[in-house]
Amino acid sequence: MRATVAERDAVAAELIRYALELAESGAVQVGDAFTDDIAADEFIKCSAEAFLIGMLFTQGMPAERAWAGPYRLAQRLGHFDLARIAAEPDSVVAAFAQPPALHRFVKTLPVWVSSAARRLIAEYDGDAATIWPDGAHVTEVTRRLLEFDGIGPKKATMAVELLVRNRGVCLEGMECGSVAYDVHVRRVFLRSGLVDADTPVEVRRAASAAYPDEPGMLDLPAWLIGRETCRPKSPDCDACRLRNVCPRLTSRSVSGVGARKGPR
Ligand code: SF4
Repeated sequence: MRATVAERDAVAAELIRYALELAESGAVQVGDAFTDDIAADEFIKCSAEAFLIGMLFTQGMPAERAWAGPYRLAQRLGHFDLARIAAEPDSVVAAFAQPPALHRFVKTLPVWVSSAARRLIAEYDGDAATIWPDGAHVTEVTRRLLEFDGIGPKKATMAVELLVRNRGVCLEGMECGSVAYDVHVRRVFLRSGLVDADTPVEVRRAASAAYPDEPGMLDLPAWLIGRETCRPKSPDCDACRLRNVCPRLTSRSVSGVGARKGPR
């Protein structure tokens, strides 16, 4: 069973309405918390380098914990000096491995973190904010982010959305942004009939078709619906924001790969 064109249009319109309401209500705005640990959150907000390193943490664990990662790493290292993180990879490995391990991927993350520190020093003079200066184009920022080990299309797309929404960066070319290929977003796109195939290309194409001016706008509402009502098991359609427009293709599901939690 597939959604009709009219159903897809209605779903897209409702998602956009929801996104605009969220923006207007101030439910999500610049300065919103990345993690519920106040000190760790301040660390991420005050340091572009911590934000970039935090992006590396955002997989395989709830994002509230992931975003606390850079602060915990700094505590264990006794510093957050990029030159030392780049030059002393063994210390980074030891800091991650110290119980409780800093990340589920305890062998991979230290490699990515040291590599990111080296790239930041070599190409950005140690200042991650120069990756995404105000006025930079979304495509260029995405390209720069993708050069970092451990940042693929999903993280880069999410980073662009967070830079604009949570860090107040003014980027050009938001029509080139998109939704992150996240398990909650994918589930809602599939069940609401916006896509019939669960692939990154299809999900991005559907977001661009739904809102060409700023496809990334659909990311937050779809993610919230996926997390709160369109759950993997027992979707609560009657309580869902899309209840009046969604064709409710609830037999459709996605694999667990790609789940994320906050911040949104
Ligand atoms: S919870 Fe139901 S109404 Fe909402 S998006 Fe999922 S399938 Fe559609």
